[in-house]
Amino acid sequence: MSAFLVHLDQQLETLKTRKLWRQRAISRPLPNAHIERNGQVLLNFASNDYLGLSQHPQLKRLEAQDVAGATASPLICGHHALAQALEQELAEWSGFEASRLFVSGYQASLGVIPALIGTGDTIFCDRLNHASLIDASRLSGARLRVYPHRDMARLDDLLGRPTPGFKLVISDSLFSMDGTIAPVDELIALCERHDALLYLDDAHGLGILGENGRGAPEHFQLTTTQRRRLIYLGTFGKAAGQGGAFIACSRKLADWFTQSARSYVYSTGLAPAHCASLLACLQLIKQAQPQRTLLKEHIQTLQTLSQDLPWRLAPSDTPVQSLVVGEVEPALQLAETLLQKGIWAPAIRPPTVPHHQARLRISLSAAHRQQDIEKLVQALHEAAHSLR
Ligand SMILES: *Cc1c(COP(=O)(O)O)cnc(C)c1O
Repeated sequence: MSAFLVHLDQQLETLKTRKLWRQRAISRPLPNAHIERNGQVLLNFASNDYLGLSQHPQLKRLEAQDVAGATASPLICGHHALAQALEQELAEWSGFEASRLFVSGYQASLGVIPALIGTGDTIFCDRLNHASLIDASRLSGARLRVYPHRDMARLDDLLGRPTPGFKLVISDSLFSMDGTIAPVDELIALCERHDALLYLDDAHGLGILGENGRGAPEHFQLTTTQRRRLIYLGTFGKAAGQGGAFIACSRKLADWFTQSARSYVYSTGLAPAHCASLLACLQLIKQAQPQRTLLKEHIQTLQTLSQDLPWRLAPSDTPVQSLVVGEVEPALQLAETLLQKGIWAPAIRPPTVPHHQARLRISLSAAHRQQDIEKLVQALHEAAHSLR
């Protein structure tokens, strides 16, 4: 047998004994924040469907519509009028000159970051940045400097050291496993001081942050001047409940990505049907003020009710709420106990989170009802008793 396959047996065995083995369930989202998972219907606290749009009847109708199939790279067959319309709407709505569509957020970063920076340059990364940002940074060939989570003094220090080449700061806006928010205004100020650009991944902020859900740039009320330093990534896989992504930036940068972002140039563009669905989705996000208000109430409810639990909720005012348990085994046990009570809130283990910080990641959604959250906390209290 191939030496690699023998090696693989050992690797997989090690993951299993360390309880780090990941398995996929057969799952199907259901209305009202429920999910069918391996045949069991559960109350779902695992989805990033923050506004409850994934089950919107209007979008389901559009998905079923036949608006021709996929084409080819936007540069080969030309890009569809629906894609053009979507890019324009997105740029206007998010407050940038231009935008470019990508099949996913992961692909967008893999293409755009190496188009911005390369060998001989330096990238500055928050330690808790999403895996896609780390992979894209490595792919770029630039030197990587990592600063502690949201530590602006340290970043200032690192940026101030003599560095050959260009500088790019990369950060999540709303951190996906902790619910914390990057100080985007300070990041831009540092970029201005040290002549760097900022790549901001707003996968979890789009639809949620800002008075009108227009994401981190609205939340921080960024000016036109501040936006010139910014390359903004929004994704449709979280609050938009769909899939796909866009980069918003200056026209000059967008034109550059059309030339040089390899995942844009060498990959089939979003299907026209998908663009139609996203155009409709954008209208729903604009009108989602009631959902955003309800979501804020749910966050409050969860925080208030979970005060006497033996585990602490990581400080977060966002729909990403982490109950930090510590070690892998008790985190898995807690998730399993909830599962038996019909609740799906998965344990998140290393390497997705740092060692000794295994947790239950609770995603709140406007599709939840108040009593769903009460049921979750009740179950957590019962689990605290039985696991003691
Ligand atoms: C989900 C996620 C991505 C990847 O987006 P996809 O469109 O799912 O590929 C990127 N960054 C962050 C922070 C995410 O949470």
